[in-house]
Amino acid sequence: METTANNLVTVEKSKTSKIDQVDFDNLSFGSIYSDHMLVCDYKNGAWENPKVVPYGPVSLDPSAKIFHYGQSIFEGMKAYKDSEESTWLFRPLDNHKRLNISAKRLAIPEIPEDYFMEGLKALLKVDDQWIPKNEGSSMYIRPFIFASGQGFHASPANEYKFMICLAPSGSYFSGKVKVLIEEKYSRSANGGVGYAKAGGNYAGQFYPTQLAVEKGYNQVIWTDDNTHEYIEEAGAMNIFVRINDTLITGPTSDRILDGITRKSIIEIAKEEKIAVEVRKLTVAEVVAAAKDGSLKEMFGAGTAAVISPISGFGFKETDYDLPELEESYASLLKKRITDIQYNKAEDKFGWRY
Ligand code: PMP
Repeated sequence: METTANNLVTVEKSKTSKIDQVDFDNLSFGSIYSDHMLVCDYKNGAWENPKVVPYGPVSLDPSAKIFHYGQSIFEGMKAYKDSEESTWLFRPLDNHKRLNISAKRLAIPEIPEDYFMEGLKALLKVDDQWIPKNEGSSMYIRPFIFASGQGFHASPANEYKFMICLAPSGSYFSGKVKVLIEEKYSRSANGGVGYAKAGGNYAGQFYPTQLAVEKGYNQVIWTDDNTHEYIEEAGAMNIFVRINDTLITGPTSDRILDGITRKSIIEIAKEEKIAVEVRKLTVAEVVAAAKDGSLKEMFGAGTAAVISPISGFGFKETDYDLPELEESYASLLKKRITDIQYNKAEDKFGWRY
């Protein structure tokens, strides 16, 4: 057993490695995991020291509250290797902050910044060889906290686990993304948990998304729960729309996740002198723009999906195709952000870590 320099994190290395079984040239998204994981327990009113341990199953009491009341939150981030094989994170402190925003909303104890960052760094160091080096691949990082404490009483648990797992990953979508603008179901509501990365937010999306997939779409674009007139976001991405030369994205609210990619793209676009509007956007406006040809692009933005161009959308039984542009904002902005993430370009914003 080793400990990190500041004695915060203990490290127990695995006796064997699975790395030889991995085809790093053909990585899918989030389906294989590195040799180690981080585990940190909350007991008796405090977080215990984080531990890096061999990757493996977690044993829980059947009455653990995660199973019954879904008290769980997570984050999604990535580690990138540059050409010198140095490892970079992108705005990781923002993920830590957002995890605690989610924690507060789900009545989960907040995790201290040093536990999160030192735990993550110790884990990445042990599994450094697992971080993909090929272009377009990266290490998807999944921090999460769930209620491990038991009891059928519908109230917050008194014990939790904070864990981080690592999944060397390729791209999230294979091929073009076709979306359905949702008219019936809602992802979130005013005063709800939409702004949190709560596990249940995703479970609630699966069924409406399945219905959309059956109709030939990849994703649902959520609209506001009150009127279904405004574009909100997609399953795991914020949404940008380009009408003529203006890039538009909806404002964040308590229904929408404050995406780190979204806010970075807004900054980069402004720097590129692209006209950016953060404002409410109606479905009617997008449909009218599709009809008169002023709708040039739509794309999703998120850590997993990076920037995913949308090839078309469905609304009220009608499909609308988007043009294929030679010089799109999506490709320009994707290059700008990934160049920062992979340390290929100067990082004026100070986002690389
Ligand atoms: N919206 C939702 C619902 C998401 O799950 C995600 C992925 N975290 C995003 C947007 C994009 O956020 P980020 O850019 O921080 O990954």
